Amino acid sequence: MKIQILGTRGEIKPTAPYHAKHSGVLIDDYLMFDLGEKEFLSYKPKAIFITHLHPDHAFFVRDMRESIDSKIKIYAPERFKNIPMQVLTQQWSSGPYMVTPIPTEHSIKVKSQAYLIQKGDKRILYTGDMFCIIKKYQKKLKKLGKLDLVITEASFLREGGVIRRARLRDEELFGHAGIPNLIRFFKPYTKGILLMHFGSWFYQLGTRAARVKIQELARRYDVKIYVGYDGLILCL
Ligand SMILES: [Zn+2]
Ligand SMILES: [Zn+2]
Repeated sequence: MKIQILGTRGEIKPTAPYHAKHSGVLIDDYLMFDLGEKEFLSYKPKAIFITHLHPDHAFFVRDMRESIDSKIKIYAPERFKNIPMQVLTQQWSSGPYMVTPIPTEHSIKVKSQAYLIQKGDKRILYTGDMFCIIKKYQKKLKKLGKLDLVITEASFLREGGVIRRARLRDEELFGHAGIPNLIRFFKPYTKGILLMHFGSWFYQLGTRAARVKIQELARRYDVKIYVGYDGLILCL
């Protein structure tokens, strides 16, 4: 499987070379996951799977006037205004590829889901933003055996990330887990972790120092970690 990381910047203003574009991952020049920039459409993927309707994952949320060619197949956890797309709750397949949505917890305003991508004996999970995977689906993941790669977010370096409680909505939680939390959570499920969707900590530290911090965590938790950048290509 060829994994091309198109964009690694979270929903923040500052940019750095190689970390300037919002989320997007292209698999085998065929399937795309998240559409943080309109320019990603030029890759002409067979199908696009959106984790959630935040603008850094779905560029068209930023501007109501945006439109997308209705011939492009777009799947998401819920619909959005006049954008042609389908709600995906079941496994999807095309040729050798299988894509399974896995509900995640992230926001109280939008639904979110990770995607398990399978091709032959290769399996990767792309999470988008999250602080948790719903328990029932954790069991399902466990049954699969080790994944080849988990691609997840890196909004916060600090332990605990930022998870808040919505006072008006039954104390529901929302936010992002910290990188250490995500590493501990995913380590039992995977051979390696690729981090993308960097938050302001990454730009404030500077990309070189940020990479060192991430590799310190990789050593501490004894797990292989790839630091994503715009344009990174990995072959599994
Ligand atoms: Zn995001
Ligand atoms: Zn988000």
